[in-house]
Amino acid sequence: MIEKVYSHPDIYRIRVDLPNNPLQYLNSYVIKGETGNLVIDTGFNRPECKRALCSGLQELNVRLQPETSLFITHLHADHSGLVHLFSDAGCPVYMEPTDYQYLVDSADGSTWKAAEDNFMREGMPPEEIRSQFSNQARTFSPDPHFSITPVHDGDVLHLAGCDLQVVHTPGHTPGLCCLYLAKEEIFFTSDHILFDITPNIQVWYHMKHALQRYLESLEKVRDLPVRLALPGHREGDTSIAGRIGEIMAHHDRRLAEICHLVRCYPHSTAYEIAPHMTWSMRGKKWKDFPPTQKWFALGETLAHIEYLVDYGVLRRSEEQGCRHYDLVRTDI
Ligand SMILES: [Zn+2]
Repeated sequence: MIEKVYSHPDIYRIRVDLPNNPLQYLNSYVIKGETGNLVIDTGFNRPECKRALCSGLQELNVRLQPETSLFITHLHADHSGLVHLFSDAGCPVYMEPTDYQYLVDSADGSTWKAAEDNFMREGMPPEEIRSQFSNQARTFSPDPHFSITPVHDGDVLHLAGCDLQVVHTPGHTPGLCCLYLAKEEIFFTSDHILFDITPNIQVWYHMKHALQRYLESLEKVRDLPVRLALPGHREGDTSIAGRIGEIMAHHDRRLAEICHLVRCYPHSTAYEIAPHMTWSMRGKKWKDFPPTQKWFALGETLAHIEYLVDYGVLRRSEEQGCRHYDLVRTDI
């Protein structure tokens, strides 16, 4: 399904459905220029997504040839999964190198293993860790054997007849980059700012202080003039400042909630705290959460706990390979 979202430059959205995934669909954006095209993000490496993306590109008469470039906003498989459709056809692929390296390193499973070991130390039972091996983020990720043109914060890409400014916004992933069309005040926000749902913030073993970095990245773009915000999932909006305020308030509530829970349940593990948090899972109880959702929920809990430990609000102690948390300050 394609939809024109802007004229001059001509920008289209291809809606790539993500079956059995709470994100519902990925927005792949296409800027059609006279001498070249730019595609932003792809969908998972699975047949349903491939069909949706290819039929959208066909309808737009965008050929998979070197005149078409791909920009991958971040490493997540729902954004990068179908990169080989482009790279195998000789299309230039633009991506931030930290996220690219993460994909390369995950090829032998070592990054997942490090995350599993970490979650085990945070109290997640081994059987629950095993049960999320079918996680879509793993199953539908791309083969990382492709090459990129690396991009960095502040770069201006001249593609599809446009000047696209790269805005590095670490937090959701270490290397997430948004794209900004300054003249038109159009902002491709990827998963940095979503409007119907709150972007997930995890812990990363090679990026400390993920939540702190994310909040800084929200500040970084808060005053950007934006008339059209085009997110990676769901629907966009005509401004970002209000939504950034809502997302910041959401994280403040989360931090306060964790302080309250650690006060109620001292010396808990993160895995013991997570079930008591407020999750919007359509009324489901923690025990009924799908394994993948438990994984993401624990990661989000940990990102907030890490923030509170950094600020000296919580104390982390480790006993027999398992981490516990206690409240030491109440003034946050
Ligand atoms: Zn993402």
